Amino acid sequence: MTWQRVVIVGAGHAGGTAAALLRQYGHERPITLIGDEPIPPYQRPPLSKAWLKGEADADSLALKPPEFYPENGIDFRPGVSAVSLDRTDKLVRLSDGSNVAYDLLILATGARAIPLPVEGNALSGIHFLRTAADAEALKAQIGPGRTLAVIGGGYVGLEVAASARALGAQVIVLEREERILARVASRPLSDFFTDCHRQHGVAFELGCSVVGFQGSGGQVTGVQLADGRVIACDAAVVGVGAHPNDELAKDAGLECARGVVVDLDARSVTDPDVFAIGDVAHRPMPIYERMFRMESVPNALEQAKQAASAITGRPRPPGECPWQWSDQYDAKLQIAGYAFDVDEIVVRGDPADGRFAVFHLKGGQLQSVEAVNAPPEFMMGKQLILSRRRVDKTKLADPAVSMRDVADTSPETVR
Ligand code: FAD
Repeated sequence: MTWQRVVIVGAGHAGGTAAALLRQYGHERPITLIGDEPIPPYQRPPLSKAWLKGEADADSLALKPPEFYPENGIDFRPGVSAVSLDRTDKLVRLSDGSNVAYDLLILATGARAIPLPVEGNALSGIHFLRTAADAEALKAQIGPGRTLAVIGGGYVGLEVAASARALGAQVIVLEREERILARVASRPLSDFFTDCHRQHGVAFELGCSVVGFQGSGGQVTGVQLADGRVIACDAAVVGVGAHPNDELAKDAGLECARGVVVDLDARSVTDPDVFAIGDVAHRPMPIYERMFRMESVPNALEQAKQAASAITGRPRPPGECPWQWSDQYDAKLQIAGYAFDVDEIVVRGDPADGRFAVFHLKGGQLQSVEAVNAPPEFMMGKQLILSRRRVDKTKLADPAVSMRDVADTSPETVR
């Protein structure tokens, strides 16, 4: 290949992986990895889990040891932000005043936590959880005798709730919808995790709207609800979603749609010399025949592979079934696929046993599976989603039938 300099902006899961894969796939030219955090690329999932509980640190979370970067000729520049892109002269302008020239650019800037635009939101003790520094600050606020208000009953908020209970804190989850995980999961899953958290002593306020924070001496002391009640707390964590860091791309004239719009090679649809991967990318997902943005480690890894393959002239990786996971107490949730336009739900197993799966079907084909402590259901579900085979609903609902035997074997079942 004639490509010379690859510059990667964003040293997170996707950016760090792309740098390593480029070397693994034989790219011998310069690679610069620019990250605004002070440490090398690391895994974020443990931040809400092991890290908060003191079971992980920066070393154990690192994707690669620090020496990996110099040893592999990767010019890793921590603690510096890309502030603008000049696509005409092919330069990335950095916050330290310097410029880096590129032949190919990979944007891997991830996403950031969405703030709550309410009164009192600048009080001390109100946290977000996106970085290792955020996790460290939050950890210092959690412990016996303290009350943590978790605003937003999504995966990150619920994982924080579980970790905080493990550390002996009182926890209350405040959720705007009538059920937790309402935007991302089925009702049986929401009900299961609500029960699970209640059994571990977590309190819930559902269908409530947070309108402000109260404080004393600059420190948060309570969360004000729209109905006039104030929920007392010693600290709060806001987990109401994330927004892609796509401003650099937008300002440089790259097409964005809440994320940089890319093709199957993770290449910008506007500029063939720019790629976007991970949480910041709005990407095609052929099995659903649509484009969307995903926030998951498997997606970051897959897109790093797509970009590195395209750059080094390797074949495009085969189409994947997107997946993600969440760990709360002893429940291991694995989700494959997305429940688009679903017309039927099949539950296999009994949530009361702590092991079950919820299958989402569209026209008899599996679109998505949510599996709790049920690896075979997850693994086979993933394969069935990819194969687009119809399933036999009666067999699927029966845990006594092996997951290997739930595909409908009639010839017209492949779309
Ligand atoms: P990130 O890992 O966020 O990396 C982006 C990097 O770019 C960051 O370091 C950012 O600071 C940097 N950056 C941004 N702008 C600039 C700039 N202008 N200049 C330089 N650097 C910049 N996924 C799962 O699949 N399972 C889980 O259980 C799970 N748990 C999670 C728990 C938490 C608390 C969080 C926050 C996320 C979790 N995720 C989970 C999501 C997963 O971590 C992300 O999808 C993944 O990290 C995305 O990788 P990325 O490289 O796109 O973004």
